[in-house]
Amino acid sequence: MKFLSLRHICAAALALGLALGLVWSAHADMQRGAPVRATHAMVAAADERAVDAALDILKAGGSAVDAAIAAQLVLGLVEPQSSGIGGGGFMLHFDAATGTIDSYDGRETAPAAATPDQFLTLDEQKRKRKDVALGGLSVGVPGIFRLLELAHANHGRLPWARLFEPAIAPADAGFTISPRLAEAIAKTEALDTFDETRAYFFHDDGEPRQTGERIPNPAYAATLREVAAAGATAFYTGPIAADIVAAVRGATVNPGRLVTEDLALYQAVRRPPLCADYRAHLICGMGPPSSGGVAVLETLKLLERFDLAALAPGSLEAVHLISEASRLAFADRDRYLADSDYVPVPLEGLFEPDYIKARSELIRPARSLGIVAPGTPKGSGMLADTDAIVPEGESTSHLVVADEAGNVVSFTSSIERAFGSHLMVRGFLLNNELTDFNLDPKGDGAPVANRVEPGKRPRSSMAPTLVFEPGGALKHALGSPGGPRIIGYVAQTLIALIDWRLNVQAAIDLPRHLNRNKATELEADTPLADLSDGLVALGHEVKIEPMNSGLQAIEFGSGRLEGGADPRREGIARGY
Ligand code: GLU
Repeated sequence: MKFLSLRHICAAALALGLALGLVWSAHADMQRGAPVRATHAMVAAADERAVDAALDILKAGGSAVDAAIAAQLVLGLVEPQSSGIGGGGFMLHFDAATGTIDSYDGRETAPAAATPDQFLTLDEQKRKRKDVALGGLSVGVPGIFRLLELAHANHGRLPWARLFEPAIAPADAGFTISPRLAEAIAKTEALDTFDETRAYFFHDDGEPRQTGERIPNPAYAATLREVAAAGATAFYTGPIAADIVAAVRGATVNPGRLVTEDLALYQAVRRPPLCADYRAHLICGMGPPSSGGVAVLETLKLLERFDLAALAPGSLEAVHLISEASRLAFADRDRYLADSDYVPVPLEGLFEPDYIKARSELIRPARSLGIVAPGTPKGSGMLADTDAIVPEGESTSHLVVADEAGNVVSFTSSIERAFGSHLMVRGFLLNNELTDFNLDPKGDGAPVANRVEPGKRPRSSMAPTLVFEPGGALKHALGSPGGPRIIGYVAQTLIALIDWRLNVQAAIDLPRHLNRNKATELEADTPLADLSDGLVALGHEVKIEPMNSGLQAIEFGSGRLEGGADPRREGIARGY
């Protein structure tokens, strides 16, 4: 494992297993197989309007970071259920001129008044996640604007205010509600709890707004204008910050503890990325407070001794081996991963060759391990495991951008659940990211690494990723939404790209499967469901479930870019 500051000098075709993609007939409206090709620049994001905003910025001479900022601000308008300026995220950046890889942590922080027991009942019972998800108590200090500002200071080319124009115009003039947004409005419980949110997403008679309706968001346009003119400080201090605090503390359900100083003190952090070799490729991801990079890389390292290239994607053997590696990585993640500014995370120990070897040798080709215990890597303390399989929602968004100079952004952002806390302030939704903490600070008497603490960042699973070829050239940029399922989605896609040499679109299209140290989860309505009996015979518990994912990816070749977007959501790749 390497923590870079590494300076990395930047200097195939459909392959076996595609048969599976070809016989896969579900999801009739999905894109399949063929990536979008371009020669100069590429953007893939969850909504076409965000992609076009990014392309406009690139064509105006903007950098990858400039384009990502424009795309994020548009996503906050057209895909408000998933991400926005009231949330947080993690960005990986590759600088083509210097070969430098940076990761930017814009994760939300707990208020100074947060306490480890804030999600317990008076008799010390853990409250239900869904009960604390609504209202002010789970709102963390939003990190997006400080992250974007820091990335822009380091890698921006166009003026900050210019990047806001593509979002301000449709916020003023109105944008059209997409089918996915309409569906999310209709099916999200309690979205009509708070006045401002209800007035925005519902008609006066209580009917949810429908696909194709055009709505403006003048309050969002005004917020963007203020931050465009005065910088992120206009969001973190003054009237906008005061309104955020008032909404959180005055929430009629679960009032929260945020104060204006929490916002004023918030900082995004530029951190070294977490990198490891996998089959001579260097793979870089996000370190703590995300568990994403660690768990993806550990899964791959545990699989490295198996000849996955000899197995077909979606074959029983491949699904079994990937599930087993993933469950071992998840056991470690559940115990050890948290904000490393607050608790010691045994990163070195988890990737020591002897540790990886011993843990990988637990994997049996013909029998599942069932639920596994975490290992004891060097540096591990006495901690309890975190709880619960968190369901996948409508939230979170991943975007990738490659500019003409070869700079690349891989950026995952979120407001946690669909529509976050459901609290809306000045045209944007506030996150409920603090529910990513373990709600119970203890387990079996021992403290949990991911317990709530003042100023701490809740553990994430977001996993923006960059892959470098054996020669050192950048090869792929990718990531996904999906809560803790992100880890399985990204690991499976990396195997499809590196071991099975699929193009980015074919890799994204593959039926999904994953394991979070419980059941092996197979994507419903795909041929993977046919593996159920075989997996049960190997000792797996099996669950067949719909999966959203929402992967976007770019592959880099000489003079050629290929983009892919997930047909399970409304994403699209486009380049020039
Ligand atoms: N809050 C989650 C995380 O940081 C993401 C939520 C989702 O992807 O649905 O891992």
